[in-house]
Amino acid sequence: MRYLILSDIHANLEALEKCLELARGKYQKVLCLGDLVGYGPDPNAVVEMMRRTASVVIRGNHDKACCGMMNVDDFNPWARQATYWTREMLSPKHIAFLRQLAPGPCTMPGFEMVHGSVENEDQYIIEPAEAIPALRSQSVQLVFFGHTHLQGGFLLSRAGVFQKISGGSRASGHILTLDLEDGTRYLINPGSVGQPRDGNWRAAFAIFDETKRRIDFYRTEYDLATTQEKMSQARLPEPLIQRLEFGR
Ligand code: ZN
Repeated sequence: MRYLILSDIHANLEALEKCLELARGKYQKVLCLGDLVGYGPDPNAVVEMMRRTASVVIRGNHDKACCGMMNVDDFNPWARQATYWTREMLSPKHIAFLRQLAPGPCTMPGFEMVHGSVENEDQYIIEPAEAIPALRSQSVQLVFFGHTHLQGGFLLSRAGVFQKISGGSRASGHILTLDLEDGTRYLINPGSVGQPRDGNWRAAFAIFDETKRRIDFYRTEYDLATTQEKMSQARLPEPLIQRLEFGR
C-alpha cells in the first residue's frame, strides 16, 4: 500500500490541487493529519475535496476552532480573526463533518497518525527536548505528525542515536527518500500543504510506501498569487497573506 500523507492544508485550495497533481499515480490512499481549514480562503472547497479523496482524516486544532468546538483564546489576533471568518463561511454540512473528526492517535497497519503528538493532539514537536521523549515512548516504529508546519521529523536509532530529518530549505520537486531501518523509530512530518513555515513557500507532502518501508518527501510550487488575491478579497489579515510567500 502506498499512502499520500497530507497535513495542515489550511483552506489553501491552489496548494492542495498542486500536491494532488504532483502525487498522481504515486499512491492508493490519502491520509490527512488535520488542519483542513483556518487561515486560508477556501474552507468549503478544501473540506469538499478532502471528503471526496481522503480515506482517513484526523482533526487539528484549527478544525476544532473553526467548527466551534474549541475557543480561540490561545490564538494570536490574526489566527483568531481568520477563525471567525472561517466559521461564517463554512456550510453547515462541512461544520458537521469537522465536528465528527476523530482526534489522534489513529492506529493504522504498522504506524500511527497524530496532529500534534501521541500524548497530546495540540502539542508542538519542534525541539529535541520534545522529540526525544516522544520517540522513546512511542509503541510503534513510525508516527506521522503535523501541526508544526515543518517538513521532515526525527529518528532514534536502536543504538540511541538521535537525528533530525529535514530536506533543504529552498528545494522543489522530490526532496528526499528515507528508507526505514529495523529497530529505528521515526517521527515524520510530511510538511504543510497550505502554509509551510520552514522557509520554503512551496506546498509540502510525503508518500509512504508501506511495503518498501520507504518515505519520499516532496515540495511543489503553486499559484500563490491567486491564493493571496482571494485572501485580500476576503479581507483576511495582511500578515497571513504575506507569510505565505516567505514560508513562515
Ligand atoms: Zn496547522
